[in-house]
Amino acid sequence: MTAFSDNLISIGQQISDARIRFHAAQSVTLCAVSKAQTAQAIRAAFEAGQTVFGENYLQEALTKQAQLQDCAIAWHFIGPIQSNKTQPIARHFDWVHSVDRLKIAQRLSDARPPELAPLNICLQVNISEEASKSGASGQELLELALNIKQLPHLHLRGLMAIPAPCNDFEQQRDQFRQVRALFEQLNHHGLQLDTLSMGMSGDFPAAIAEGATLVRIGAAIFGVRPPKPQPDSVTEGN
Ligand SMILES: *Cc1c(COP(=O)(O)O)cnc(C)c1O
Repeated sequence: MTAFSDNLISIGQQISDARIRFHAAQSVTLCAVSKAQTAQAIRAAFEAGQTVFGENYLQEALTKQAQLQDCAIAWHFIGPIQSNKTQPIARHFDWVHSVDRLKIAQRLSDARPPELAPLNICLQVNISEEASKSGASGQELLELALNIKQLPHLHLRGLMAIPAPCNDFEQQRDQFRQVRALFEQLNHHGLQLDTLSMGMSGDFPAAIAEGATLVRIGAAIFGVRPPKPQPDSVTEGN
């Protein structure tokens, strides 16, 4: 048994406790966020039964994927996307959660190898409407979703949000409720979305209370991260 397996068991228990407590009918997938973790750490978590992993930095992810080819992992890209990185993202991931512009979606669709299943997409929404944060605003969302729905090599699955961090449960829940409302609006327009990607180590029970179907958890599984690596833009140019 590794420390990760204890943490994974504990998180699994907390997810099921939250589902019961808030009468959440949806199933909840745990995406283990492995940014800044080594390939060995990912392998240990995989051997403990975790199969879904999320990465933020392309180059770091590709290096680790090459070392983990023997593991049947579903890779989710959850970091900011530069338009010159869409080709490797479209080739090496199963899901992308951080799409907030049509141009990026078009490039991902064009670059998705046709022999692979369509790339699963979540649109990142910005509910706090802070100019500094990425994500589409509520007003832009419907048009963006309808356009992305037409792209041949993408499968639009849902919404992703990273609300402003806060410690108050009810405030966390208020923010997730706004994301859920946008999700329901899109479904009223016939978009057939099935994925609400929201909730991190500090707020996932509140996200589950508001309908999260996928929680993205890093620190609570792997421990507090070492300092952030250089973003791709610094090391590789834009
Ligand atoms: C780092 C990160 C997470 C995980 O955050 P923790 O607080 O470590 O659980 C989830 N989603 C995104 C987009 C992230 O960048």
